[in-house]
Amino acid sequence: MRLLLTLVAAALAASVQAADYAGPLFDAHLHYNVEAQAPHPPADVLGRMRRSGVKAIIANSRPNDGTHALAASPLAREAGVTVVPFVRLYRNRADYDNWFRDDSIYRMVESELARGTASGPFRGLGEFHLYDSGNANGPVAKKLMVLAEEKNLAVLAHVDDTAVDLLMASTPSKGQKLRLIWAHTGIGGPSPARVEELLKKYPLLMGELSYRPGLTCEGGKLCAPWRELMLKFPDRFVIGSDTWINQRWESYEDLMKGYRTWLGELPPEVARRIAWDNGAKLFQLP
Ligand SMILES: [Zn+2]
Repeated sequence: MRLLLTLVAAALAASVQAADYAGPLFDAHLHYNVEAQAPHPPADVLGRMRRSGVKAIIANSRPNDGTHALAASPLAREAGVTVVPFVRLYRNRADYDNWFRDDSIYRMVESELARGTASGPFRGLGEFHLYDSGNANGPVAKKLMVLAEEKNLAVLAHVDDTAVDLLMASTPSKGQKLRLIWAHTGIGGPSPARVEELLKKYPLLMGELSYRPGLTCEGGKLCAPWRELMLKFPDRFVIGSDTWINQRWESYEDLMKGYRTWLGELPPEVARRIAWDNGAKLFQLP
């Protein structure tokens, strides 16, 4: 009898422990920068994606040749990874602090868009950074937001909540038609209430969740306010690796495992949307 009770208790404990999400992942924030390419050639990074169950990536790189290399690689198809290429606004580190007012960046974007990649046209712009939100009103930043909306390009922006409003205000539709993927959903950690306000204001705003402060609590589990937000807006979040330094490549598989852990706590259909469907829908992937 005691043995039976022990077995029943163990079975109950196992059933409340959620299983990790096991479906496909869309990595919506990936860099393949110049310093990554020698230690981590395409076969290496694509192997990490394959082993992690990543089936599509938003690829961008400083400079853009890393993205071209991934888009042209037959290994991507072999690994079952769809490359969604974005034009990065940076040729080098100095461009981080100047792109929003440097007209040569605008011309570089135009020429990259005209050139396209081996796996098809560029689908977006970014990632770009604004460390001072006022620079969202820089002349080149404004022109690029107009260009993005007119050419139906998505935008991957590492900015604060004030800059989201400013960037959206620069578009012809005042933010109603721009697909803006908000990197980290605000790395400074605006409150879930403020995130909700912006999601309601801009119908195509998406929150990308790498490095998001306050997202996970003890044991890598979702914190309650974020779980609530995801259940309320299941179509508005995506995940990403943000391989901005090589160390992120080295921990790529662990990063994706971390996502699978908290995704597993959500209802399966919500997990699947955040893991894959929302990103796939943004770019009309099957
Ligand atoms: Zn990044």
